[in-house]
Amino acid sequence: MQPMQLSSEGSLESGSESDDVFFQDLPELNQDTVVNKPNYDFLEDEEFWQEVKKIASVPGWKSCSNTESYAHFGIARLVYEKIYGDLRLLPFGNQKRYVPFFEEYPEDTTPYEVYLTTELMKRLNEITRFTKQELNVPLTLTSLTLHSGEKHDRHCRHRSGTVMDIRPFPATRPMTWRDSVYDYQMNLRFTRFLLAHKDVTVVFFNDPRLHEDSVVKSIIQERQDAGNPVLFRQVAGHDNHYHIEFRLDSEVDLVTRYIKSQVDFR
Ligand SMILES: [Zn+2]
Repeated sequence: MQPMQLSSEGSLESGSESDDVFFQDLPELNQDTVVNKPNYDFLEDEEFWQEVKKIASVPGWKSCSNTESYAHFGIARLVYEKIYGDLRLLPFGNQKRYVPFFEEYPEDTTPYEVYLTTELMKRLNEITRFTKQELNVPLTLTSLTLHSGEKHDRHCRHRSGTVMDIRPFPATRPMTWRDSVYDYQMNLRFTRFLLAHKDVTVVFFNDPRLHEDSVVKSIIQERQDAGNPVLFRQVAGHDNHYHIEFRLDSEVDLVTRYIKSQVDFR
């Protein structure tokens, strides 16, 4: 099997995304409404809680400074799968709108971060529509989420199926924002579009000019004022890719918060 290009893009480096946590305020959780819903029967299952404990604590070989976000994203995936079924496999090469990090499916996709929720699939289609129509470039994905299982995510935050890494634009090859081929205007347009998307909650990318752009600043302020904030940060390891997080499905988010309120993971 052809190894993917991830290592050359650096997005598998551990620890680079673990220093930030960002959870939006939600209405108070009503535990009665959660546990009484029939499709939440799994919450009564002792095995489920054992699984939660297993997936939520940071293993010794892994470096994640923010244990809460590690647990949060891991539990969110378990909950998603209980409610909606397995994460989906990225459909590679879909109408050439987005380009995965290898041309063909490997025989065994479980070791690769190529899984996502149905919601993210829809979001991906919206975003690729923009990059195709407005920028006339493909979207190049470098990481999504690993298949669930014992050996889960090398990334600390890529656990929920709602997270992705993509190359900066024009995305024709691995590049950083310092490269000559990097197109600032294109990335500016993309960043403004992305931050204005109401379901985007977190973006890490390091081009300092983007952070100084007045339109970018006003989009962030408007979302803050509207009670739907988006976090846009420079984080070590994000010169060569955008790290993008989308809002969790509201039921998944609610149940994840409920579970976290029941167990001390620290
Ligand atoms: Zn990432």
